[in-house]
Amino acid sequence: MRVIGLTGGIGSGKSTVTDYLSEKGYAVVDADVLARAVVATGTEGLAAVVARFGETVLLPDGNLDRKALAARVFADEEARAALNALLHGRIARAIKECLAQYRAAGAAVVFLSVPLLLETGMQSETDAVWLVDAAEEERVRRVVARDGLDAEAVRLRLAAQMPSFEKRRYAAETIDNSGAPSELYRAIDTLLEKYGF
Ligand code: ADP
Repeated sequence: MRVIGLTGGIGSGKSTVTDYLSEKGYAVVDADVLARAVVATGTEGLAAVVARFGETVLLPDGNLDRKALAARVFADEEARAALNALLHGRIARAIKECLAQYRAAGAAVVFLSVPLLLETGMQSETDAVWLVDAAEEERVRRVVARDGLDAEAVRLRLAAQMPSFEKRRYAAETIDNSGAPSELYRAIDTLLEKYGF
């Protein structure tokens, strides 16, 4: 089984790529989905987050207030490191379990989408890295439109990640998503053909 790591900064278009691949029937493991699962209501992960950050990161219904937590950690490097330390191992274990399930099921290729694939060293789980990238101001515009954040808050999030030019050094392929979605889909199709997937 080949594992293709998909990564890219916030707003680069990872979800758009994984949606497209899923629609085409490819196996996708999405770290964002697993990151939500490990802090779902009733999990040990959520209890650990509340122990560190307090009940102010909970919504009245007991679920994690993701926006409140994000606001805390993106403005504070120490808090961000503490949260990463709490969650990284749990997410990594969940990813390995998913990959093992696909391997057992006989999948030929799995796309593993991880926003911080390179920052966390998770690329060691992959055979090749495909980087999704787009011009920085375009990414800011898209995230503002998607999440309703102001541009400055988005730039803070961008600044917390490894810059694109550095990520490109680790990538076997860079998928440029600065243009229209149709161009993105064509670029993915070209890569799928190149790799024989
Ligand atoms: P990521 O998962 O990397 O944060 P998304 O796939 O969610 O990025 O893309 C960010 C936002 O930009 C989403 O609202 C998405 O629909 C939109 N988007 C993605 N690619 C394009 C594109 N080529 N043109 C216009 N909008 C796009």
